[in-house]
Amino acid sequence: MKIPLIDLKKQYRSIKEEVNEAVLQVLESGSFILGENAEALEEEFAYFCKVKYAVGVASGTDALELSLRALGIGQGDKVITTPFTFIATTEAIGQVGATPIFVDINPETYNIDPKKITEYLLGITNLQRQAIKAIIPVHLYGQPCDMDRLIKIAKDYNLRIVEDCAQAVGSEYKGEKVGSFGDTGCFSFFPSKNLGAYGDGGMIVTNDEKVAQRLRMLRVHGSKDKYHHISEGRNSRLDELQAAILRVKLRHLNNWNESRRKNAAAYNENLGKENLNGKVILPRELMGAKHTYHLYVVRVKDRDRLRNFLESNDVQTGVHYPLPLHLQEVNKNLGYNRGDFPTSELISDEIISLPMYPELDKVAISYISDLISNFLKERR
Ligand SMILES: *Cc1c(COP(=O)(O)O)cnc(C)c1O
Repeated sequence: MKIPLIDLKKQYRSIKEEVNEAVLQVLESGSFILGENAEALEEEFAYFCKVKYAVGVASGTDALELSLRALGIGQGDKVITTPFTFIATTEAIGQVGATPIFVDINPETYNIDPKKITEYLLGITNLQRQAIKAIIPVHLYGQPCDMDRLIKIAKDYNLRIVEDCAQAVGSEYKGEKVGSFGDTGCFSFFPSKNLGAYGDGGMIVTNDEKVAQRLRMLRVHGSKDKYHHISEGRNSRLDELQAAILRVKLRHLNNWNESRRKNAAAYNENLGKENLNGKVILPRELMGAKHTYHLYVVRVKDRDRLRNFLESNDVQTGVHYPLPLHLQEVNKNLGYNRGDFPTSELISDEIISLPMYPELDKVAISYISDLISNFLKERR
């Protein structure tokens, strides 16, 4: 039995007829960029997130960058975020000329720790505080951030919130979808994400009409009417093929996310028994939150050896992510050092992502869990 970390072929086979038909319709239509499918997807996606506006763009990275631009964040500004995320989060900050400020994560949720943000803000001068314009919380692995506390901080310090929802489409905090809390919410349709296209794509959601209008201009070279350019812009558009595929897939998303939650529960049950207590740390859901398990991540001391052992038994795993962003070479100029964010550093060394996708079956989960149990029992 060979078990991949994620299986996109299985999913395609389960929706093949619907997808093929949608793709053929686009090919026949002769309309390929920001046409009726992109428009319909925006409406359907806004409805799904229960927000007023959704704006399709070319990727999740662009969604973050254009959000910052639309909110007027740029040269000389600072943005608070987590060092425990994918590089795109800080790339977007750098792209607009702003600088990231890292704050360490909560050791149970792996998301940015609101308490540490407050500590940081209380420890700097007024002048330093004035340069800080926004927070980018990342709902990592599909686990929602503690939005009540982040919103309180944002209000107290007059900060914008740009939610990085790339891994968390459909995740909920106190009954509301992530993306609907911030000034904007940014989604990625990279193929491996919970709602994945068959190419690149992204979406920004917002309840602010002005921000939505600015985003609609930014993505098409700063123009409102064709060939009349009001501001600096970009080319960051969603194409019709991706939009048509995503419309089909959005109809299945709730079921798929439920399957992911069931799979996570099955892993939790298998790995939670057998006296492995302490040797494997299972994911914990934030109170009041609904996690959608883009990734199912556990912590073990002997991570690399467990990975090799699973690999040799045909189980593919991943590490998301092995090196926190404050230690990445590209961020060297920010001046951070090892030891600055101990929780992120510790957790990066111990995490392992196990196979997770909606179509993963119980037999596979038992097989993987048994392998892990056997490995950990032998290392008393
Ligand atoms: C995937 C991802 C992005 C970027 O999305 P792309 O569509 O690949 O540009 C941003 N942030 C996080 C946390 C991601 O996982």
